[in-house]
Amino acid sequence: MNMPVMNAPASPPATDPLDALFDAMFKPMNAQGVYARTGAYESVVEALAAFISARREAGTEVFRFPPVMSRAHLERHGYLKSFPNLLGCVSCLDGNETEIRASADKHLAGGDWTEDLQTADLVLTPAACYPVYPIAAARGAVPSSGYRFDVACDCFRREPSRHLDRLQSFRMREYVRIGTPEQIVAFRESWIETATAMADELGLPYTVETASDPFFGRLGQIMAFSQLEQALKFELLIPLRGAAAGTACMSFNYHREHFGTTWGLNLEDGEPAHTGCVAFGMDRLAVALFATHGERIDAWPDAVRAALKL
Ligand code: ATP
Ligand code: ZN
Ligand code: MG
Repeated sequence: MNMPVMNAPASPPATDPLDALFDAMFKPMNAQGVYARTGAYESVVEALAAFISARREAGTEVFRFPPVMSRAHLERHGYLKSFPNLLGCVSCLDGNETEIRASADKHLAGGDWTEDLQTADLVLTPAACYPVYPIAAARGAVPSSGYRFDVACDCFRREPSRHLDRLQSFRMREYVRIGTPEQIVAFRESWIETATAMADELGLPYTVETASDPFFGRLGQIMAFSQLEQALKFELLIPLRGAAAGTACMSFNYHREHFGTTWGLNLEDGEPAHTGCVAFGMDRLAVALFATHGERIDAWPDAVRAALKL
């Protein structure tokens, strides 16, 4: 029989070491993982962006994407198979003035106006590189030198969390390579080297490990296993909570011919192009800098401030 334990001490509130940095970085906005950013925090994000831009390779085309993208395109990407749980979809009030007024007035009358929402043709972009593949495919065959892109986007993933290194709305910057398998493998290898050198310059401790994406459901576990086995994804993990497992702040991804086949993105010989990307989690890198060097930027090591021109 389970006896109630009398006079047991109340369990302490769950705290996270990153919480102490909240005020220096963020202000609450009434939703987990959705925060206003302080000027100090944003100066670090801007400095990081310039630090990454300085390493852009010759011949790289730049695109900056809006926080929404075509729902049809995301469906074609296979996102509903892989991560339906993370997707945010735009919905709006459609109709003529009378209909829209009637829906909005439900709210004023204490009712539920949201039952009239219609699903729109837009979703919230979940990763910065998705919009670039149809743009490249529209050009016809990929030239023999391949393509290099520099992309960035405010991304959304429905993973509310009280942890400051897991946001619902966050910034992602990526370098993307499209071409032959050899070109993608070489791109990824050289970026793992460059990125670790960048982390060294920023005074951030890290490990680089093979990883898998959190594919949805039981079938997803098989996809994740295959991804690990083929070493398609590496992550640069930064310890933000002492000895606990680090947080992925950059990822190095080889998609093989997935996007090439999806978008009819072919090489000159008609074979599907291979693609890869290196993704920088801008908010995670900024949080990592505060967690590692402290909440006062003017007290950060000189070498780190010099590297970031802060
Ligand atoms: P995790 O395993 O921590 O969920 P992920 O594998 O889902 O990360 P990617 O899909 O590779 O991450 O996204 C690229 C980068 O975007 C990550 O390395 C990370 O820096 C950043 N990122 C991903 N999800 C979030 C999030 N919820 N909040 C902040 N940054 C994120
Ligand atoms: Zn990508
Ligand atoms: Mg994730």
